[in-house]
Amino acid sequence: MYQLPEEHEELRAAVRALAEKEIAPYAAEVDEQERYPVEAAQALTAAGFNAVHIPEAYSGQGADAVAACIVIEEVARVDASASLIPAVNKLGTQPILLSASEELKKQVLPSIATGEASASYALSEREAGSDTASMRTRAQLDGDHWVLNGTKCWITNAGESSWYTVMAVTDPNAEKKARGISAFVVHADDPGFSVGPKEKKLGIKGSPTREIYFENCTIPENRIIGEPGTGLKTALATLDHTRPTIGAQALGIAQGALDAAVEYVKDRKQFGQAISQFQGVQFMLADMAMKIEAARHMVYASAAATERGDARATFLASAAKTYASDVAMEVTTDAVQLFGGAGYTRDFPVERMMRDAKITQIYEGTNQIQRMVMARQLLKG
Ligand SMILES: Cc1cc2nc3c(=O)[nH]c(=O)nc-3n(C[C@H](O)[C@H](O)[C@H](O)COP(=O)(O)OP(=O)(O)OC[C@H]3O[C@@H](n4cnc5c(N)ncnc54)[C@H](O)[C@@H]3O)c2cc1C
Repeated sequence: MYQLPEEHEELRAAVRALAEKEIAPYAAEVDEQERYPVEAAQALTAAGFNAVHIPEAYSGQGADAVAACIVIEEVARVDASASLIPAVNKLGTQPILLSASEELKKQVLPSIATGEASASYALSEREAGSDTASMRTRAQLDGDHWVLNGTKCWITNAGESSWYTVMAVTDPNAEKKARGISAFVVHADDPGFSVGPKEKKLGIKGSPTREIYFENCTIPENRIIGEPGTGLKTALATLDHTRPTIGAQALGIAQGALDAAVEYVKDRKQFGQAISQFQGVQFMLADMAMKIEAARHMVYASAAATERGDARATFLASAAKTYASDVAMEVTTDAVQLFGGAGYTRDFPVERMMRDAKITQIYEGTNQIQRMVMARQLLKG
């Protein structure tokens, strides 16, 4: 009664097999060399797992939100950097799916569905992180073109992506700052667009994070997403759909760390027996698995809520992202602990997983901001 449909479990088995065979073998090298996971990108695209959420009408798989989470979770279980390929394709295209004209959807989405192109999402600026509405990037209509000027920062997969969903101020005099912001689609080849150097990060080192620059960047008038002034609304509505996917990423990282720890404690001997025999170790494993199980239910429930347009979707998306990312941080830290000194080295994956887990508490809104969102939902009305 209360379980995933068979097709979702079949999808999980297919993605897990692919991830273990074609992504896991390169995960340590991708992290060490801080390089884009090209093997993962090729394998995901060949199997049609690079952007499963895109509807069939735009040459996609038409997978539901829970299925998209399962793909991201299973890839993150072996390599968090690689899981950002399907995750950021969803983040970058969700504003288009929600609010763009049919013409723009047809122009952009099929190339992403087939893997010929990929998408990034550009909301943050140096001085406008949690406080997104104070962004400064400007877009002005000049005849039949929009001209963009400004800098966005922290853009995941910038440099790899061909399409960028960009939020910019179109009405600096708007009574409410949020209503003066519009959303656009920019292509990497558009004149006046460029990317900066890669940030030097703690984790997800295989996923480039860069600034992107708009210097009189000129795009056709019809590349606006929805009506002028609706951009921030679309950008925030997007996060209701994608915070469950960050929860899924966190969940996958935590599951990968637990699986590695279970194997290790059965093998490692101290005091003449496997360390798995000690109750102190068993209790840690039980707590890790219990929290992961709870996080999984929240992530899938929140994804399903966004899919059906449930009134509680905003609360559930923030709750799932926050809970799963906090669990990922705790579980990966405990996994390192269970490996002892070996866990602190790059000889085992748990060290990388602990570094990768941290970002899930920060991006798509820090966990403090998520708590503000949840409280606002509780107190409104
Ligand atoms: C690796 C990486 C990838 C990213 N990818 C993207 C991307 O693809 N696209 C994109 O647009 N952005 C992206 N981001 C940006 C990310 O979403 C922001 O970093 C995040 O929202 C926080 O903004 P900030 O860094 O400016 O922190 P700040 O807003 O300066 O926050 C600093 C601290 O203050 C706390 N804080 C701020 N305001 C409040 C408040 N009102 N109440 C309580 N605490 C508060 C925060 O929780 C945090 O702990 C990425 C960031 C990183 C590091």
